[in-house]
Amino acid sequence: MSKRRLLIIYYHEVVEQGKGYSYQKIEKDKFEEQMKYLSENGYQTLFFSELSDPLPEKAVIVSFDDGLKTVFDNAFSIMQKYGIKGNVYLPTAYIGNDEHFMDWNMARALCDSGLFEMQAHTHNHTDIRTYSVEDMSTEVNTSSDILRRELDFEPTAFCIPFGMYDRKSILKLKKTNKYKYILGSYYGRVSENRLNSIVLPRIGISNDDSIEKFGDKIKGKYDWKGILQRIRLLTSNISKRYVEVYEV
Ligand SMILES: [Zn+2]
Repeated sequence: MSKRRLLIIYYHEVVEQGKGYSYQKIEKDKFEEQMKYLSENGYQTLFFSELSDPLPEKAVIVSFDDGLKTVFDNAFSIMQKYGIKGNVYLPTAYIGNDEHFMDWNMARALCDSGLFEMQAHTHNHTDIRTYSVEDMSTEVNTSSDILRRELDFEPTAFCIPFGMYDRKSILKLKKTNKYKYILGSYYGRVSENRLNSIVLPRIGISNDDSIEKFGDKIKGKYDWKGILQRIRLLTSNISKRYVEVYEV
C-alpha cells in the first residue's frame, strides 16, 4: 500500500478586506471559503500532537505563523463554524508584549476551545543559522519554559523562523532533543513514515490564491516549486545571507 502523505498549510494574518499589519495576510472571506473547501471535501484537520503513522486519510495541518492577533479576532470564529483545527507557532517574546500579537489570555482561550494547539517558533524570532549551540539552547528552553508556564503545554513541533536553516543549525536544534517535528517553508507533502526524520515542507497560502488554486495547492500540483525554494535557500546559505530584522 502506498504511503499516505501529510499536507501542512500556513497563514499569517487573517484580516478584514483592506486591513492588516503584515504583508503576509489573507482576507477573511477568502479564508472562510478555504475552510469551507476543506470541510466539504473531507479533509481531516489535525494537531501536531495527533500525528500518527499511519495517518488518517486526507490529513491536513492548518497552521498560523507568529501568533498574530487577527487569528484570534478573525480566524477563530470561522474555524469554529467549520470545525477546523488550527496550530499556531508562537514567538514567545512577542506574545503579550506587542499589540499586533495575541496575548496569553487569547492563546489560552484558543487552546481551551479545543480547536487550537500552540507550538514553538523560538523566543525572539531570529535566524537560527546565526545561533551558537548556547543560543540555540537558550532560545529553545526559554520558549518551552514560557509555553509550559502560560499554557501548561510542552511543544513538540518547531517552526523555523523565515524557513531559513542549514545543516549546522538543524544539528544544533536536534541536539536540544526538544521536538518531534521540525517545520520548514517549502512546498511539498511528507510521507507518514518520514514525519520525524526531515525538515517538513509547508505550503503558504496567499491572498492572491483563487479557490481553484487553493485546491490545486492542496492536491500537490505545485509541489515541484519546493525544489526551487530549496535551491534559493541553498544559495542564501552559500552566500551567508542571513535575515537580520524580523518582519511579519
Ligand atoms: Zn515567523
